[in-house]
Amino acid sequence: MRRRVSERYTVLLTRTGKEPKAFSFRPVVILLALMTVFSWAAVTGFLYARNVSLHRAQAKLEDLSRRARELSLQLSRQKNRNDQLADEAAKMLTDLDALEAQIERLRERAGLPKVKLTPVKSADNDGKGGGIPLDTVGLLRLTSERIKALRSDLSTKVEPALKKTLKRESARPYGLPLRVHTYIASGFGTRRNPFGRGYEFHNGVDLPAWYGTSIYATAPGVVVEDGWSSIFGKHVVIDHGFGYRTLYGHMSKVLVKKGQSVERGQVIGKVGSTGRSSGPHVHYSVFIWGKAVNPVPYLSTPSYAKR
Ligand SMILES: [Zn+2]
Repeated sequence: MRRRVSERYTVLLTRTGKEPKAFSFRPVVILLALMTVFSWAAVTGFLYARNVSLHRAQAKLEDLSRRARELSLQLSRQKNRNDQLADEAAKMLTDLDALEAQIERLRERAGLPKVKLTPVKSADNDGKGGGIPLDTVGLLRLTSERIKALRSDLSTKVEPALKKTLKRESARPYGLPLRVHTYIASGFGTRRNPFGRGYEFHNGVDLPAWYGTSIYATAPGVVVEDGWSSIFGKHVVIDHGFGYRTLYGHMSKVLVKKGQSVERGQVIGKVGSTGRSSGPHVHYSVFIWGKAVNPVPYLSTPSYAKR
């Protein structure tokens, strides 16, 4: 059996004028050396690459942090804007509350029943959320819904009713037909007949004044009578609409004609004692749909007329 001679690699280094030097290695040594070189290169390369990606990551992180700061700024700005909107919406709701109260007064004035148009207060705080405040969008939606409801109520109910009420009020007679001091010498109702036996129904009030004192219309209207009667003597009847009529009797002078329009406070005649009268005075009657009513409540000026 032949003994296996191990292979060797020889490196000759020659130098001019010198003996060459021989280095001989076993292959395993060469392999180890090569492996060492490659390992070093690999580790170095890896470290280098890692370093690069680390720098990249750091740069990326920095960028992200900057963007986060920007976003945070934007968010706070947005939040401020949101708060502003919420404040505005809340203020609008407060304004609407005031407006609704105003409309409620108008409703009352128009003789409409009291209603709660929109249960806003409860939706605000006592709703299903159990005290969870409404967000801006919710507030704005609520506001616009209320505006819609109020507008509809105002135009379809309150306005027509108010117009009618104001017309009726403006047609209603009020105040004395005299501008001088007077008193009720004889009231409305059944009284002893001042000119004979028994009792009679007195359908108005007697207001004494000096002969020739001006008599004023107690509401605007149209003269429907300017005649003479045995009871009221020279007298005027004015139709005010809405069923209201007034009669002024015992005049010495009638200053208006049948069919003539008169204003509230217009002079229509002078105090006298014509007809069945025992002295100068105005007999003043108020009729509603043809029926005489006690004029006393009509003699004072109502609060709405004082404003
Ligand atoms: Zn009378």
